[in-house]
Amino acid sequence: MEKDFLLIYSDDFKLHSPEPYEHPESPERLEKALDGLAKYKLLERARKVEPPKGDVRIFLKVHSEDYFNFVISKGRSSVEWLDGDTYISPGTHRALERLAGVPEIVERELSVWNLILVIPRPPGHHAGKNGRGLGAPTLGFCIFNISSLIAKILEDRGFRVVMVDFDAHHGNGSQDIFYNDNSVIHIDIHQDSSTIYPGTGFPWQTGEGNAKGTKININIPPFSGDDIFKDAVDNAFKFLKDYNPEVMIVDAGFDGYLDDNYMVSLNLSSNSFNYLGKTLNRISVPKIIVVEGGYNTGLKKALPSFLAGLLGKDDPVNDGATSSTPGTWDRYRERLKELTNNLKS
Ligand SMILES: [Zn+2]
Repeated sequence: MEKDFLLIYSDDFKLHSPEPYEHPESPERLEKALDGLAKYKLLERARKVEPPKGDVRIFLKVHSEDYFNFVISKGRSSVEWLDGDTYISPGTHRALERLAGVPEIVERELSVWNLILVIPRPPGHHAGKNGRGLGAPTLGFCIFNISSLIAKILEDRGFRVVMVDFDAHHGNGSQDIFYNDNSVIHIDIHQDSSTIYPGTGFPWQTGEGNAKGTKININIPPFSGDDIFKDAVDNAFKFLKDYNPEVMIVDAGFDGYLDDNYMVSLNLSSNSFNYLGKTLNRISVPKIIVVEGGYNTGLKKALPSFLAGLLGKDDPVNDGATSSTPGTWDRYRERLKELTNNLKS
């Protein structure tokens, strides 16, 4: 049977483990994601490939030597905390070796597949050049930034790269890495920066130097429903089309989904994620999807809805639309106006 997409995954990603502590970013997340894809008959559409073990020094392309050495020295014999949010365990180092092998597969397969899904751990989009991205309080469960590494490698090969991040939290690490680099466009939809970790990603943060205007932050207020999210997606699409990418790298977070977790206050149904997938599908360049956040139902339901949309299919979950109050719309429109004004100036 012909397959629809390439799935890059390794069971070694489960070796990054908080035990004996409890933590929302746990190995079970991977089971939830794979179960969700299986339940909605998407796993059978995948050609699966396990990345080889790679040299973790490849992450020096996007992280400083100091931060790299700090990570490598920690968690060697037992679980250690890099900060109040973020653990590292002996198994993390084996998981990171597999993660380091992902770019090799992406480079080899990019001309073959229009859609590549990476389901990795530990996550990466909060990890900036020197660790905490754009001055965030912690690493936010992230260690090395795999999506930015892939972006950097493809940028160096001459591709016009656009990164899209729709995790409920700002992708501060990725923006940090490319903040002075105008050849990687970064478009980020997230819960209003003043209301959630990492407290970055305001509409006026658009990049620095000649990269000013290449980092687009679309804030959506707490309690936003599908109506606001879809409007944000339509706005993101306008920027996307303008930049005319040759390859798209998507930091896909599913923690804005209804009751996924206690850390986010968005109210998005599966409809939002299917709509987003269908919208991105309108731009027919190769897409590399890297799963970031999402802890429970988001992985089981929003991930399959999004993937179905990317394959041009209707929402297989279809759990009913949510809507926003007029006050929430007002706050959303204020943030959009700030964004437009900052991109003009
Ligand atoms: Zn998140």
